[in-house]
Amino acid sequence: MQIAAEPSPGARTFKADDANATIVGESYTKTPASFVIRRGGDAPGKVALTFDDGPNPEWTPKVLDILKEKGVRGTFFIIGENGTANPRLVQRILAEGHDLGNHTFTHPNLGETPESVAGIELNATQRLIEALTGRSTRLFRPPYFGDAELLLRKKSHRCRWQKNSAI
Ligand SMILES: [Zn+2]
Repeated sequence: MQIAAEPSPGARTFKADDANATIVGESYTKTPASFVIRRGGDAPGKVALTFDDGPNPEWTPKVLDILKEKGVRGTFFIIGENGTANPRLVQRILAEGHDLGNHTFTHPNLGETPESVAGIELNATQRLIEALTGRSTRLFRPPYFGDAELLLRKKSHRCRWQKNSAI
């Protein structure tokens, strides 16, 4: 998902009748615009396997064993506090050829989280991934399905973070 265009304000001009102190005409010179989100990655006949909320000491090793046996790669969107508790699993995910993604640090509903706290959630997990693997990630999945659609400006900080994050 990419931001193709960011919101921009509209503009209009007015024509006034000074003698009567009234507005007699209005013209929009630019219409306001909202976010334009572009989705991509369509690959007919292929699927992307993704795993959220780990790493989990019981399930993640089992999933990794199966993926290795089948020669399949996936993407693991980790919760930072789980990564902190299971650092070797984070390293194993990457060592076995999978991708890592950021799924916040404590799995809050970002739609109900102040932007400053959301920034901490994202940055803490990003730094954890970097510290444990020596690599960064541009992949981010917000917790809870309701955050999948960026309909509210309130939620736009996640996009800005993704757009501006360094690799
Ligand atoms: Zn989740």
